Amino acid sequence: MASTSHKTTHCPICDRASDAHYRPFCSKRCADVDLARWLSGSYAIPDDEDEDGGDTSVTPESEPPVPARRS
Ligand SMILES: [Zn+2]
Repeated sequence: MASTSHKTTHCPICDRASDAHYRPFCSKRCADVDLARWLSGSYAIPDDEDEDGGDTSVTPESEPPVPARRS
């Protein structure tokens, strides 16, 4: 394995050489893009409704509706 001591990181957004100030990105713009993606991705979590048909032995104890008495 030929390992280089000086590893050049590339911007994960546009694959350019990353800037020391915005590592691992090349610019603030790409950093913002990644941040926006991350935020939108974390906020746009699809409703994971896993209906595996579990045994729900929960009997709802709701009292029968009492008819309003009119005098
Ligand atoms: Zn970039």
